[in-house]
Amino acid sequence: MRCLLLTLMFISSCLSQETRPRDLTNLKTLPIKQIDFPENVPEQPTLPPLDSGWIDLGQLDSTFRFDIRYATTNNFVGLQLYPCPRCILRSEVAAAVVEVQTKLRDMGLSLKFYDCYRPQSIQYELWQKMPDARYVTPPDRGSMHNRGGAVDLTIIDEHGDELDMGTPYDFFGQEAYHTFTGHSPTVQYNRDLLKSLMEAVGFKHIRTEWWHYSYQNTMYPLSDYHWPCPDSQRAWPVE
Ligand SMILES: [Zn+2]
Repeated sequence: MRCLLLTLMFISSCLSQETRPRDLTNLKTLPIKQIDFPENVPEQPTLPPLDSGWIDLGQLDSTFRFDIRYATTNNFVGLQLYPCPRCILRSEVAAAVVEVQTKLRDMGLSLKFYDCYRPQSIQYELWQKMPDARYVTPPDRGSMHNRGGAVDLTIIDEHGDELDMGTPYDFFGQEAYHTFTGHSPTVQYNRDLLKSLMEAVGFKHIRTEWWHYSYQNTMYPLSDYHWPCPDSQRAWPVE
């Protein structure tokens, strides 16, 4: 496992250095021009999620905190894949995390989100960098993130510091598994707290990632909608 991890880290590092300039300047054209889409995926995004049934979580509750990693280079591919950070979810998924937040607030704690809805074309980007179904859902099948039904998140304390969950976000290894038994009682308590609160409102965990929860495993339609970004937040110009 150690050799595998080192190999993956090396491959990821090499890819990051080779592709960083191209990805930062031409993101919108990348999935269509350089990735072979299967026939059933439309070339142009057609679904406007914000018209109904979707909610921008940041506008729903001001106490949520966000660290949308794919809108930064601080992620496992080392590339900024979103032009600006947004946490968009199906409205019933958003309502469920608000319930969790209400309970955490009473404890002086808060949720912090690493990822929410993810356009399907970004899934192709991730799959290119990590073609391992244990960690990245194959894009032709589509991730629950591509359906607006999944969140990657953790818990922070009153100072904004993350509770110790044993590994960072997007750590690919057994230490991130729910089934790993080598963590301290504090880590186990923190993970159990997040898991019990999320599952109480209908979320399902997956075995390999302590941070990932899907709402009732509902198969909402896949989407490749790209959200608008204010000019002040946009990392590259509109084409
Ligand atoms: Zn996830």
